[in-house]
Amino acid sequence: MGTPYSAILTLMVTAGVINIIMGIYVVSNRSKQAMARTFIAMCFLSAIYIFGSALELSSGTLAEVKFWIAVEYFGMPFLPPVSLMLIMHFLGMERFLKKRIRFLMYLMPLITLVLVLTNDLHHFYYRSVELNTGPGIHHVDLNVGPWYIIQGGYTFGCMIGGIALLLLYWNRMRSSYRLQHIVMLLGLLLPIIGDFLYFGNLTPGGMDPIPVIMAITAALYMWGLVSKGMLNVAPVARDTLFESMSDGVLVLDRNNRLVDYNPAAAAVLPALTSSALGESVLPLMERHTELSKIDLDFSAADESLPRIYDEIQWTVGEQLYYYQIRSSVIRKKGGREASKLIVMIDVTERVRLQEQLRVLAYHDGLTGIFNRRHFIHLSEALLHQSSDQDKPLALLLFDIDHFKRINDDYGHDVGDQALLHVVEICRQLLRPEDVFGRYGGEEFVVAMPGLSQQEAEACAQRIRSEIASQSMVAAAMEQSLSVTASFGLAVAGAGGKEDGKGLNQLLKAADDALYEAKHNGRNTVRLADL
Ligand code: GH3
Ligand code: MG
Ligand code: MG
Repeated sequence: MGTPYSAILTLMVTAGVINIIMGIYVVSNRSKQAMARTFIAMCFLSAIYIFGSALELSSGTLAEVKFWIAVEYFGMPFLPPVSLMLIMHFLGMERFLKKRIRFLMYLMPLITLVLVLTNDLHHFYYRSVELNTGPGIHHVDLNVGPWYIIQGGYTFGCMIGGIALLLLYWNRMRSSYRLQHIVMLLGLLLPIIGDFLYFGNLTPGGMDPIPVIMAITAALYMWGLVSKGMLNVAPVARDTLFESMSDGVLVLDRNNRLVDYNPAAAAVLPALTSSALGESVLPLMERHTELSKIDLDFSAADESLPRIYDEIQWTVGEQLYYYQIRSSVIRKKGGREASKLIVMIDVTERVRLQEQLRVLAYHDGLTGIFNRRHFIHLSEALLHQSSDQDKPLALLLFDIDHFKRINDDYGHDVGDQALLHVVEICRQLLRPEDVFGRYGGEEFVVAMPGLSQQEAEACAQRIRSEIASQSMVAAAMEQSLSVTASFGLAVAGAGGKEDGKGLNQLLKAADDALYEAKHNGRNTVRLADL
């Protein structure tokens, strides 16, 4: 070309070509992602702008200059909103990019384009366009109009907006995308700096640095976004998945430094803020006693299965939760630790359900005390333990007297309340180590470890007299009601020596004694003959 601008022209053509190559590359990868489409648009718009500028620069007549300026405007004014959209895609802010919003973002550059194309009619964009040519001079004098200022403001607004978003999301972005983050930031910062230099007349020979800067940013994009396959993976989808997981995830490096965490993890561990990134998690884990059990030492190279810590109790606010915590290691090919994961799974529902099932399986539905089956299971164990330790075990069986009458006279509901009344009195008199169960309809049984025959008898008498003396007042009943019960007591190992009786024999003996009590006027305690 031989003009003094040949170096600039070469750079511009290079930038334009890179942009076209990037665009074609992404198109040919058939990436369907909105982010890739936005990137393609940016590449082709940049190419139009750059080639337009190059041809404007090498124009010989004013008509040619005006023509190529018009061509530039098919690209240039659309670039700021497209860059902003690209950033929003990158940051996972797709939900804000509704059709209407996108249309509004394109509206301003569209008006600008129309005004530039029709500028000769109204001179609203450029008041005048003049070409100064001479040996070594090629200068287009542009006298700007009011819309030029408005478009400039819009351009600047989009760029500043993009920078602000990138800075705002700096810590929220996965650190593996840091390079791309920086490329995006430079892609906006460099043109802004260029503009300031240009308008401050600080560029060599007063030349417009933007085309040169576009060459740099195009190369940056090529390296940072395209070559890293960023447009083919879905950073946003991956992020959204990670962010919306209900399980808390902590990603650590091999030295237990926090690399990443998701909001679910932050909800469980309030100390988990962005300032914890890059720091060791060990102090954090020590602060939470629940986490202190977790072993992060995976130095044994054969270890690959996650370590599972189940039903870890966790209080968040006032609520008690249960978590299953898994720690695992991710190894590189040679077996070297690459990173570690701590996954926290909320198993509160499962634990509560298990607890409900356990209560249903072991307890009586009406009174809440143990059912017969579980009572037998527990007292078998008590009997073994007592005989091992040469200690006595007392079995007290009792049955409410004339219970049928209560049902008949006052109804089944009052009968139920009488059962609850008796159970409540016994509960208050029994020791924590005693095992209390419902043996049948209105028949109850207590296993009392460690009591001598005398002590057991005294205890039985106390229960009997308390039941007899504490009358009950059931709801919907005018007068109070007295209840009595008859007791049969059998004490194993009472003499401090093993008598070899099994639980069934003891229960049979207590039942015989109870039968005797019934036949001796009821409301009494009878001791079994063993
Ligand atoms: P005794 O003094 O000889 O023990 O007389 P009783 O009337 O208590 O004798 P029996 O064992 O024949 O009667 C027990 C009654 O208890 C029969 C049954 O209808 C009633 N019953 C059993 N389970 C329940 C219950 O869960 N609720 C109520 N309301 N009644 C029950
Ligand atoms: Mg009875
Ligand atoms: Mg009975």
